[in-house]
Amino acid sequence: MELPKGCQYCIRGEKLVLFITGLCNQNCYYCPLSEKRKGKDVIYANERQITSIEEVIEEAYLCSSKGVGITGGNPLLRIDRTCEYLKALKDEFGEKFHAHLYTTPDLIDKEKLEKLQDAGLDEIRLHPTKIFNEGANTEYYKLLLDKLKLCMEYIEDVGVEIPSIPNMEKEILNLAYKLDEIGVKFLNINELEFSETTYDTLIAKGFEVKDDISSAIKGSEETALYVSENFKGNMIINYCPSSLKDNIQLRNRLINRAKNVAKDYEVITDEGLLLRGIMIFDNKEDLEEIAEILRDNEVEFEIVENKIYLNPFVLEDLIEEMKRARYEIKFSAYISEVYPTVDALEVERIPLVTKKLKFRRRK
Ligand code: SF4
Repeated sequence: MELPKGCQYCIRGEKLVLFITGLCNQNCYYCPLSEKRKGKDVIYANERQITSIEEVIEEAYLCSSKGVGITGGNPLLRIDRTCEYLKALKDEFGEKFHAHLYTTPDLIDKEKLEKLQDAGLDEIRLHPTKIFNEGANTEYYKLLLDKLKLCMEYIEDVGVEIPSIPNMEKEILNLAYKLDEIGVKFLNINELEFSETTYDTLIAKGFEVKDDISSAIKGSEETALYVSENFKGNMIINYCPSSLKDNIQLRNRLINRAKNVAKDYEVITDEGLLLRGIMIFDNKEDLEEIAEILRDNEVEFEIVENKIYLNPFVLEDLIEEMKRARYEIKFSAYISEVYPTVDALEVERIPLVTKKLKFRRRK
């Protein structure tokens, strides 16, 4: 079965995640938003906090994005901002730049759908929160189905996206048949995960971690698989495991960005991170001397304050060479592994020279 279009861009790492606001009118106990985003009216393009349309376009270029997933919070609480950003992306990258948006059924109305249609939205995904928080009654299902039908009048692809709550197979199957009956295109079921903000709540509710290597919740996968195996309708049911999000989607997105932002001396790892060698000097004279050697040998490098940034493998060779030649220069050195994001968050530091080795100065 074919994946929903938005998911195809996501898996290839070609989706720009546009977090349009942290504001939300729901209060899901499993909401994974971090403290710095939850309830805050902030905008992020992938991992980068932004304040303008120019920045979102720049980020889309840097990540070689071919589509956008507009999320939050609840984007419909900032409908004009959502449409303004969406239209700007469509104008810049063309009609084929695929756009999907996540929201809840309660905020859907004709006026907002018209605006989204005019801005070029291709796909909408409704999250029926009530089913998973309080349990839904007939009235809520009616509202959900009516809102989905309304969406179908304006947006080409209409789907539903839900968390896979352990032991809710029956409710989810029941939902799936109702959606199928009215022609909803797909049901996306996400594996439930612990996050920094939900850990205590989920533990208090009796959920357990699946294994030692992930933050996924025990039983969530089984529930999703039960639904996909037992559903006999026509609608696409797509299960999205947390490992797919972390290992493939994020990795591909980082690789795409790394290819565009890596300096000549940096090495891109298989995970899409950047490796760089760094030398730190106590005095400028020593730094200049090493810089001169690097220039003589046509080695790519960059000077930032009292540091030299260079290829990590060249740095290792250089240190060996300096030890052999017994240079008398004081410096420390390490290999730094960073995200290819704006903040260049460091994930690992491998020390090479820690004790300010003294090499004898060249005559
Ligand atoms: S609708 Fe989404 S953003 Fe809002 S509280 Fe629920 S999970 Fe969080």
